[in-house]
Amino acid sequence: MPRPIEALVHGDGLAHNLARARALACGARVWAVVKANAYGHGIERVFESLRAADGFALLDLGEAERVRALGWRGPVLLLEGVFEARDLELCSRLNLWHTVHREEQIDWLASHKTAQPQRVFLKLNSGMNRLGFAPHAYRAAWARLNALPQVDEVALMTHFADADGAGGVAEQLAVFERATEGLPGERTLANSAALLRHAQASAADWVRPGIMVYGGAPDHPQHTAAHWQLQPTMTLRAQLIGVQQLARGDRVGYGGTFVADAAMRIGVAACGYADGYPRHAGTGTPVLVDGVRTRTLGRVSMDMIAVDLAPAPHAAPGSEVTLWGRGPHGSVLPIDEVAHAAGTVSYELMCALAQRVPTRVA
Ligand SMILES: *Cc1c(COP(=O)(O)O)cnc(C)c1O
Repeated sequence: MPRPIEALVHGDGLAHNLARARALACGARVWAVVKANAYGHGIERVFESLRAADGFALLDLGEAERVRALGWRGPVLLLEGVFEARDLELCSRLNLWHTVHREEQIDWLASHKTAQPQRVFLKLNSGMNRLGFAPHAYRAAWARLNALPQVDEVALMTHFADADGAGGVAEQLAVFERATEGLPGERTLANSAALLRHAQASAADWVRPGIMVYGGAPDHPQHTAAHWQLQPTMTLRAQLIGVQQLARGDRVGYGGTFVADAAMRIGVAACGYADGYPRHAGTGTPVLVDGVRTRTLGRVSMDMIAVDLAPAPHAAPGSEVTLWGRGPHGSVLPIDEVAHAAGTVSYELMCALAQRVPTRVA
């Protein structure tokens, strides 16, 4: 028997969440963002469930090739654009749309030999200061692109830094509107947080939901995935492979950081940080045993984690342990809660699911 741990990718959850994004999009077309191997789910595993998207947005040219290899003939957008001049050949061959965020990328286009003009998304740095042209340089970049025979349509794009937080989108939206005033072309602004929280203001022609498609609430803990009517799309589950009876004063795991203050029964699950479970999730991180909510105890080891069996007195080796996602009997452990306990976000947990965990679509 293989080690009792597996991950499930939920096709129905993906399709449901994508439909939620579309319902919020005010008629805009929807890019399903599948960068980082579909947020750790696997591009090939999510593809069928996300076919209803209008396009796939990603970063890596290898991932774009994989989407085309699956038979997708619709739009594919490179969110960071090309990384060197040669990449434009692949864009021509696979008909990839690409972001243009710095001058050099326009130089490369200007010397690219192609019969088929390319569709580009011109990125404005509206305040996040990651990628994009500064507002004062934006129109000149647009004019340069627009004059190139290698370029078909120029769409206009920016990205919000605090759509999930108190800052909101108003300031960056105003910068975008000023910088793009009077320019023709489709517009795209919204990530998941903007779509969930500021759809009216930010939806435009295309929206770019990522984390919400994968059932994560971008503004957790202010709001939960259930609040946004999102379903889990990834379950990480293992089994108990050991049980220990502790006396008062007994310690658990490396460093003995958890000390029993009374007699208690604990279980040991076959999941550790080498499976992608966050090592920084301390004692008290929520976990389900046979669908019953309990807590982790002590440090996460490479291959194991201890759990409190007080709420699950019948648990024994072989009992199902849900680290996140869907548990038995309709139970759910939101990945956001586990991420929060580990001081991170659901994005990171999904993306960190380890190669060694057998994963299948369910
Ligand atoms: C990752 C990304 C998104 C999706 O962001 P979520 O917060 O996951 O919805 C949208 N746009 C760009 C440019 C991105 O890089």
